[in-house]
Amino acid sequence: MIKKIAITGGTHGNELTGVYLIKKWQDQPHLVKRSNFETILLHTNPQAIKECRRYIDKDLNRSFSKDILTQNPTNYEARRAHKLNALLGPKGDKNTEVDFIVDLHSTTANMGLSLVVSSKSKLTWQAVRYLCEKEPTLHVYRWMGDEEDAFVDSISPNGFAIEVGAIPQGVLRADLFEKSATLIYHLLDFFESYNKGDYKDENKQIDIYDHVKLVDYPRDKEGNIIAMVHQELQDKDYKLLKKGDPIFLTLKGETIYYEEDEPLFALFINEAAYYEKGFAMCLSRKINLAT
Ligand SMILES: [Zn+2]
Repeated sequence: MIKKIAITGGTHGNELTGVYLIKKWQDQPHLVKRSNFETILLHTNPQAIKECRRYIDKDLNRSFSKDILTQNPTNYEARRAHKLNALLGPKGDKNTEVDFIVDLHSTTANMGLSLVVSSKSKLTWQAVRYLCEKEPTLHVYRWMGDEEDAFVDSISPNGFAIEVGAIPQGVLRADLFEKSATLIYHLLDFFESYNKGDYKDENKQIDIYDHVKLVDYPRDKEGNIIAMVHQELQDKDYKLLKKGDPIFLTLKGETIYYEEDEPLFALFINEAAYYEKGFAMCLSRKINLAT
């Protein structure tokens, strides 16, 4: 039985879709109210939202590791992480305050409507499957590569992040705003029908993109970027890369090619926020997963 879920936004303060969806629903709470559980709405990083920045001191969506949550907080996001963990968790507890967290993000990459899932829980994957049935354009990226397990949604035993793009940082797009809202309404309908016992667990399979590795930009000895994402790859998220496909264009105008033997799918291509993290794209393998 699901008693309480949290919809969170503004984890990255310059990703306005989530910031404004939360505002919309705070003004019109009936839109996210369902008959048999409680929905709470939360701006997770208020100071970053105020300043329209990704974060103040450290990426909040990497601040929920065991280390950070058990040590005295030393920066703004660590303090937020402690507060959010008390409010929604505590993480790892059998009786967390909320049963599910959906964290709203946007991306400058052309990811369309995507889920980023790190949870292994059965309920999470049932919800994912339900959403895939309702929204056929939805892509699912399973990122178990977050070695610290430090995402916002990791506070709860169940949950995921929604990523929608392409949207520049600090910008709202009505089409993707509406798509994100609709996905949340489907998710709430799923919980309502799950609680009523109406949801049939039929063990169906879904196609997902499973994280394989991160690819950094080509760099010089000092670490400066010396190439950009190739124009033929730009905006082609979820494209299958095969050996010999162009991936980077150097500042001198030379093309750098994909050299892996195994064809892999590229995503989060040229995401603005990942320049500082040192990657130009993620590579993934498409697999068929039983849920
Ligand atoms: Zn984000």
